[in-house]
Amino acid sequence: MTRLPIYLDHNASAPLLPEARAAHVGALDLCGNPSSVHGHGRALRNLIETARDQVAALAGADRQQVVFTGSATEAITQAIAGSVRPLGIDAIVISAAEHAAVGKAAEITGLPVTVVGIDVDGVIRVDEIAARLQAADASGERLLVAVHAVNNETGVIQPTGKIEALVGTTRHYFFIDAVQAFGKLPLEFGTRAPDMMAVSAHKIGGPVGVGALLMKAHAEGAILVPGGGQEQGRRGGTESAALIAGFGAAALAFPQRYDASRIAGLTAEITAGLQAIAPEIVVFGANVERAGNVVNFAVPGLGSAVAMMGLDLLGVSISSGSACSSGKVGPSHVLKAMGVAPELAASALRVSLGWSSTSEDVKAFLIGFETVLGRYRARRERAA
Ligand code: PLP
Repeated sequence: MTRLPIYLDHNASAPLLPEARAAHVGALDLCGNPSSVHGHGRALRNLIETARDQVAALAGADRQQVVFTGSATEAITQAIAGSVRPLGIDAIVISAAEHAAVGKAAEITGLPVTVVGIDVDGVIRVDEIAARLQAADASGERLLVAVHAVNNETGVIQPTGKIEALVGTTRHYFFIDAVQAFGKLPLEFGTRAPDMMAVSAHKIGGPVGVGALLMKAHAEGAILVPGGGQEQGRRGGTESAALIAGFGAAALAFPQRYDASRIAGLTAEITAGLQAIAPEIVVFGANVERAGNVVNFAVPGLGSAVAMMGLDLLGVSISSGSACSSGKVGPSHVLKAMGVAPELAASALRVSLGWSSTSEDVKAFLIGFETVLGRYRARRERAA
């Protein structure tokens, strides 16, 4: 089989959109500091403010609610660790299926952290959040509830509307990690109740190294990097106009480039193809609503690392359920929280599609997977 470069790991990072590339590269040659009042500075300021409008439009936010950061991880850390003192938070509630950025930020606050469970389908246990809120209302505690909108491993869409209704708008605060939902589901930040949301450029075809924290005015005390007062005092540090311009261009282009029904059709082809090759396949989160770009599955016995490396040698890039930053394949805390047996979780693979995915990619992946599975089955038979 010839080696083809097939990229099916959009949830890790999406390929740069041509529009984002043009805006980013175009801005790299401009010199100056966007805070300077001279012409050079004003040109960079214009790029940033245009991008603010573009990101706000995709998030359904007001432009003044958008604070540019260096990543979603930074935005998440600011929303959680930065808010506890100024907003008078007594304790934090997260779910067992959060991205490490959320768990680590909650941990460094030193406050009590309640980790609510997820069910067998990967959906956050809203009843556990309700019980924790009730206890807090009785004791007079102020909680920060911090959960994700779409799971990066399974694509499961979380019931943030229900959680938002429970948290309310008076005593407690609500933060949503909207990284995997941004561009795929309407966020409607301006009209919904959450106080803060985090988004990232590189998941929608923007450059790596820029994200945004969406903040309501009453949450503006949550400042982690005051510095020189940039971003209206909400995130200090000279802004990277080039990265921000790329982010804005991606936010503008993404709705045209990402055709959700086309992508859902491709993931359906993947699921059907996998079921034909391996009827014993288990698809995680199959019974609930998911973002239509992810298939997280396991073929019992075929280890994640073996399958991933076999596909990599054939030129097909996919992910295991979770990859730690060291590049090592680790057990998925999300699948564990869903009650998936460790032996099955050790076989988890995630295929995630996006704006550049084609049916040729799907065909190449399925051929590659059949090859890798065939070799595994042959080895197993020889060993039997
Ligand atoms: N939250 C979720 C759900 C993610 O999937 C990711 C990235 O994988 C992040 C947060 C972190 O985003 P960034 O790479 O911009 O720091």
